[in-house]
Amino acid sequence: MAASSMKMKKSSSFTKSSTQFLLSAPNNKTAKFELVDYDSLPEFLKHNEFIVSYYRSEWPLKQTILSIFSVHNETLNIWTHLIGFFIFLMLTGFASSVFPTASNAYPLLQLNSTNTFYIDRAQRALIEPSASSSSQLVGSVIPRWPFYLYLAGAMFCLLMSSACHLLSCHCHRTSYIMLRLDFAGISGLIVSSFYPLVYYTFTCNPFFRDLYLASITFFGLATVIVSLTPVFDSPQFRPVRAVLFACMAASGVVPIAHKMMAFGHRPEAVLTTGYEAVMGMFYVVGVVVYVARVPERWLPGKFDLAGHSHQLFHVLVVAGAYTQYLGSLVYLGWREVEGC
Ligand SMILES: [Zn+2]
Repeated sequence: MAASSMKMKKSSSFTKSSTQFLLSAPNNKTAKFELVDYDSLPEFLKHNEFIVSYYRSEWPLKQTILSIFSVHNETLNIWTHLIGFFIFLMLTGFASSVFPTASNAYPLLQLNSTNTFYIDRAQRALIEPSASSSSQLVGSVIPRWPFYLYLAGAMFCLLMSSACHLLSCHCHRTSYIMLRLDFAGISGLIVSSFYPLVYYTFTCNPFFRDLYLASITFFGLATVIVSLTPVFDSPQFRPVRAVLFACMAASGVVPIAHKMMAFGHRPEAVLTTGYEAVMGMFYVVGVVVYVARVPERWLPGKFDLAGHSHQLFHVLVVAGAYTQYLGSLVYLGWREVEGC
């Protein structure tokens, strides 16, 4: 791409050696890609005026991709979710190697070894399988696709988010596409989070299982479709976006309340609800930080590279997703022991 398309405005205070790219222009002169201030951005890149500088603006695609390895105000946004993606990739590999088949229940119970309740139950089931309801362990086949669907949803969300932060600065069209993929990823994470919860809680009640799964899936698709409207990504719609996602997440309260009414006497139900409460807390705090744009609102320009709200939001999303992973292990252990 021609060097003339580059933004050449100089930012005031960054270290040149760490933030510039070099490109050999057709006329053999060397051009520099520099980071710019908020005021120099085109409208489609103006999302947060409290982040003052270190912006990439309309860089060629090659330099945009290579900027994953350089310092700018999106570097930590990219890497927080890219590292999160690799964490979930490892968790998926770990889980599939520990319990590769649907009938291989015991290793899963070992996986829950932090929960002595499961260890006790597993030992009793193995030593005297006919002495308790755990007799259904033998021959019971509990589908694991809801668990893996959740892992896939989490990885899709984290990868789309990371790609969105890396590539959106390239051009308006790329930004438009990536922002929608980012929304679709967040919707996918929220919807897939409810699959282990609903499927394993209501394994023995297909009516409510299918009703809740259909509802949350419908709500997720509706959110993605609404987010396709062009007006949706303008800054003044930031609270609307956040509220929409929060409502979708809140719709999960109904099956959780139902779970506690039906199984509130069971330790698995209480433990998984605890995980879900912690997960919800991470997500709610993340959304509040995202909307409030703190701490950069208090000290504009001081958190451009590290510590601004979106980075905190990303870390909270990874923490919430990991909490739900732990809860999903408990659900799986519950159904592996109990069957239906
Ligand atoms: Zn993000």
